[in-house]
Amino acid sequence: MLSIIKDWREQRILDQSQFSQSDWLLAAQKIPILDRLTQSELTHLFELATLLLHDKSIVGAQGFVITDAVRQSIALQACLPILNLSLEWYEGWSSIIIYPGAFKSESTTTDELGIVHQNSHSRSGEAWLRGPVILSWRDAQHSGERDGHNVVIHEFVHKLDMLNGRANGFPPLPADMDPANWTKTMETGFADFQQYPKSGLDRYGSTNPAEFFAVLSEVFFETPQKLVDAYPEIYQIMMNFFLQDPLHSTS
Ligand SMILES: [Zn+2]
Repeated sequence: MLSIIKDWREQRILDQSQFSQSDWLLAAQKIPILDRLTQSELTHLFELATLLLHDKSIVGAQGFVITDAVRQSIALQACLPILNLSLEWYEGWSSIIIYPGAFKSESTTTDELGIVHQNSHSRSGEAWLRGPVILSWRDAQHSGERDGHNVVIHEFVHKLDMLNGRANGFPPLPADMDPANWTKTMETGFADFQQYPKSGLDRYGSTNPAEFFAVLSEVFFETPQKLVDAYPEIYQIMMNFFLQDPLHSTS
């Protein structure tokens, strides 16, 4: 019964969408990594993007104006990782904040001696636990160009990771995946990557296991061959997790 109510609610949102199928197609054509999707996958992506835009508020910071093109681009890229999962993976938070460019992030950390440090970093994106996703449009608008970098996918993958607590590179796994195998495969890859840089994989991924998962997810969707070349076992478990195979698309 619950799913019938949900389907009805979702159908109503889809029926009332301000964007038509052709609006979405035009927006998708500007994002090269979506080329591999079949017609029915694209239609499903457009539905997910419509529902995401209904569920989340997108707000501009520092005077940045949120246009339809911005909303469409962010929503399409954000929904690519969950194309074959579901929108429930993005539940528990409500807003996406867009800065015109890189933004300063202030953070407070407490070290092992109990001393509090104020840190200030320049960032292109952030994902807060149970809080917003924050993106720089200057970076987000150049995502999806098959160069291995995608700040939108990066931050939204942190959200998948955070579904079972803080980001640690270990998202909730489907019942048919072995958690021990995920941990072993990712830990082995992470230890290797800390020592040996790999072509096409951003060194930022060596920061910690959460960044390793997010950076490799960018590569999985942007330049999958690079991930297969560097870590074929990780490509395999990501394929099982995302239920997508970007390297061998059928379209
Ligand atoms: Zn990150």
